[in-house]
Amino acid sequence: MELNSLTLDETKEFVLSLGQKSYRGEQLFSSLNRHKILDIQKIHQLPKEFRDTLETQSRINKIKILNRFDSKVDDTKKFLYLLEDNNIIESVYMKYDHGNSICISTQVGCRMGCSFCASTKEGRIRNLTAAEMLNQIYIMENDLNLTIDNIVLMGSGEPLDNYENTLKFLNIIHDPKGHNTSYRNITLSTCGIIPRIYDLGREGVPITLSISLHSPFDQYRSQIMPISKKYKINELMEACKFYTRTNNRRLTFEYTLIEGINDREEDINELVKILKGINAHINLIPLNPIKEYNMNRPSKNNVEIFYKKLKKIGIPVTIRKEKGADISASCGQLRRDYLDKTQPN
Ligand code: SF4
Repeated sequence: MELNSLTLDETKEFVLSLGQKSYRGEQLFSSLNRHKILDIQKIHQLPKEFRDTLETQSRINKIKILNRFDSKVDDTKKFLYLLEDNNIIESVYMKYDHGNSICISTQVGCRMGCSFCASTKEGRIRNLTAAEMLNQIYIMENDLNLTIDNIVLMGSGEPLDNYENTLKFLNIIHDPKGHNTSYRNITLSTCGIIPRIYDLGREGVPITLSISLHSPFDQYRSQIMPISKKYKINELMEACKFYTRTNNRRLTFEYTLIEGINDREEDINELVKILKGINAHINLIPLNPIKEYNMNRPSKNNVEIFYKKLKKIGIPVTIRKEKGADISASCGQLRRDYLDKTQPN
């Protein structure tokens, strides 16, 4: 039993099954998720005898900081974490005016195959447990001595491809007896697994959904995002409408600008068509070229032109501010570099 992957209700059920009262479950849950005590014997609120029982009947998942990269140009910090099975994941801390943000990973690797992404090179190795997602936040908070206000599920992995664990993570991190993060301060980024978008819409967890769109044309989108071969853009837009209706949330569309692929006039015209009737804004991300793939970032001027045209048409749009430019690496690149340096070919 992985204690720090349990929701509050599950924790209570578990302690009841060990012959304890339900309030011990609350104490245990808060110790793990509010006070971030990741050692059973250090949870002094619980009697020693019960701590001993917990140690024989359950365990706490732990991850370690393998390396930390601090930007010299801003407050961005990238963390490489070592999991218990020696897999490696990465998270990023970013400081904004609106608070402290973390971008976490949800899988080791990813099987979605987006061509601009280093996380997918070896496919999906495994799903992360809820505890492994939570630990990325708690360990970072402890290390930096701060509280994370905003959480983005946009690191390595497709969160909706690890649906059950992601839902558990959302439940635990939101719980007022734990970290108490508002759903409104959580953003989940997906490449667009349509059935799961509908499922999430029905769950009643009004987080912000961020869709990796990257092209308004199936023909082009499927060249850079294989998921698009399975789920067409018009179906994706219907799922997005459903999500905004059921959760009353504005969507974000992530749009990585790639020279000559999706930065053309016809892309703008088509974007206008497909986004009609959707409460959404577009976040433009000038491509961070990765060495595994041969694609280029458009010039600064062309990014600006694309942005201004969308704005003029009335589409809410922003250009993502580059954070930690000196340690900047696209999704999964840090882990990839580490593996390249440490593992023989
Ligand atoms: S962009 Fe996201 S969904 Fe696509 S391969 Fe990378 S991690 Fe997976």
